Amino acid sequence: MQECVFCKIIRGDIASKKIAETDDILVIEDIAPKAPVHYLIIPKKHIQDIQAMENVDFFYGSKMLAMAQQLSKTIPAAHDFKLQVNSGKMAGQIVMHLHVHFTAGKLSGAL
Ligand code: AMP
Repeated sequence: MQECVFCKIIRGDIASKKIAETDDILVIEDIAPKAPVHYLIIPKKHIQDIQAMENVDFFYGSKMLAMAQQLSKTIPAAHDFKLQVNSGKMAGQIVMHLHVHFTAGKLSGAL
């Protein structure tokens, strides 16, 4: 995936503020934060969106939830948090590499 900005970040070709990393997942700070804490939890495998996930990809779902819990435990300002996935252009997805928005630090209601 030559042109995918998140693949470039994962490869280290583009700089990012790394928050956490495992063999499967990278967490970076969003370049244009919409909350006091705004991270992106990104699988290292290029998967376009939830619609494109195959059975072998679903373990990333639990990996990303486990990462969200870890962030919540280790970052005091992120004890309470919100997760959002924009899956598909009509849902507002701009970067076509699956990612979970992890936001915290601002009281916000349900969607
Ligand atoms: P989405 O609309 O769900 O595709 O969200 C993509 C998110 O990626 C947006 O919140 C952008 O601000 C963020 N973003 C785009 N490029 C970068 C980058 N190079 N580093 C960090 N975040 C980025």
